[in-house]
Amino acid sequence: MGSKERFYVDIMAVHPEVTGSCNLVVVKYPNDETCRFIVDCGLFQEKEYEELNQNFPFNADSIHFCLVTHNHVDHIGRIPLLCKEGFSGKIYASSPTTYLMPLALRDTGKVLKDLSKRKHCKELFSETDISLALNCLVSCQFGETIQIDEHIKATFFKNGHLIGAALILVQISFPEQQTINLLFTGDYHKDNMFLDVNPLPYWVKDLNLTIIQESTYGYMDSDQSIACFKQNVIAAIQEGKTVISLVFSLGRSQEILYVLKMMQEEGVLDKAIPIYFDGKLAFAYTELYKKDVLGIKEEMTDFIPDGLVYVSKELRPTLITDRNTKIIVTTSGMGSYGPAQCYLPEYLTRKNALIHFTGYVAEGTLGRSLMDTPYNSIVSVGGVVLNKKAEVVYTSEFSAHAKADEMIEFLQQFNHLKLVLVNHGQTIVKEQFSKRILSEVESKHVGILSRDYFFRVNGYGLIKSLGTKFD
Ligand SMILES: [Zn+2]
Ligand SMILES: [Zn+2]
Repeated sequence: MGSKERFYVDIMAVHPEVTGSCNLVVVKYPNDETCRFIVDCGLFQEKEYEELNQNFPFNADSIHFCLVTHNHVDHIGRIPLLCKEGFSGKIYASSPTTYLMPLALRDTGKVLKDLSKRKHCKELFSETDISLALNCLVSCQFGETIQIDEHIKATFFKNGHLIGAALILVQISFPEQQTINLLFTGDYHKDNMFLDVNPLPYWVKDLNLTIIQESTYGYMDSDQSIACFKQNVIAAIQEGKTVISLVFSLGRSQEILYVLKMMQEEGVLDKAIPIYFDGKLAFAYTELYKKDVLGIKEEMTDFIPDGLVYVSKELRPTLITDRNTKIIVTTSGMGSYGPAQCYLPEYLTRKNALIHFTGYVAEGTLGRSLMDTPYNSIVSVGGVVLNKKAEVVYTSEFSAHAKADEMIEFLQQFNHLKLVLVNHGQTIVKEQFSKRILSEVESKHVGILSRDYFFRVNGYGLIKSLGTKFD
């Protein structure tokens, strides 16, 4: 082997498609030393991949460190399991993410505990494992380069996908060798209404670069998502309906509250219409938004609509029987967990209700089946069989993922793109989006990351792809 080939990284995906996000990188140095690290360590949420949650296809104790792109369960949910299995390295995350992660992991722990009780199986990890994970956390400031070890440094750049989300640049160097630069997008969005997201600095755009690019919405362009939430809410309220807005606890909750506040200020939503907010985890995140720790824009710290009522356990039953016009903003985003489980069975049977999903409604989820069920037809919600009378709608206008055209634009900003590895998307979407990159982006190579193949890469780009065998 020439000396060029003695210094390389192998980039692998533990996840086949969208959830369970975890990229394993194995660095091979010319002196024959190796270093292994992972980027994200998420929980599988698609039904068909759930069993993959039990095991890692690598030894957890062989991993030197872990980088975290953002605080979504499909990117961090298995970190406690990693610690349980013997990982004891550092976990690097952006400063806001270190404030958010304890809430997310403890909530995930509770959900998994309930699930294991119901299924009579052992829980994936314990509260002790969660504490172990949180103790490994190292907080990173955006834009600051940190030296991880003698050869590896990392820089976190702000990413509009979520509060605390980062694009992570990893630079691996060795004397007399071309530095290997890897940019992990995690989930990506250019901007965020709560944040100022600066463009990437020029020095990054000028690097010889391999990008590990998400592709969740690689099948659609941004002009295909039409804003309709506001109009839908106004129309429903005029007809005297109750609006149930289903939201994710982090990000979407606060965004929807802000939109409602704006509607009140514009005078299109009467302040006399009561707005209720329900979801324990969403409350906790909302409290953090009001503090100084997340880097929220000054003008966005006041996002709570007038007269907002936080729903207590005691109030909830009253709201379920109540017939008055109102808005209920509640978790979970896909309707299968949280207080939504109490509201949906009742309001679905009412003609004077609008159920509004505000985020990604995946194939096989409750949200999807509710939308696909025609009016006055039978649908089952958590085993309860009922007649759907309510209107059920969905909008992708709040999506926190870049659409295909926006991702292409993102990729076009780099001057020396050597390789794009298409990651984090449904298999057919990854294929479709890869073709588009090939025709619209100047990248030497494009590859599709899945569990089937991994990519051997050096400072000049792709060396070869190989059939995956972990460990
Ligand atoms: Zn994701
Ligand atoms: Zn995400």
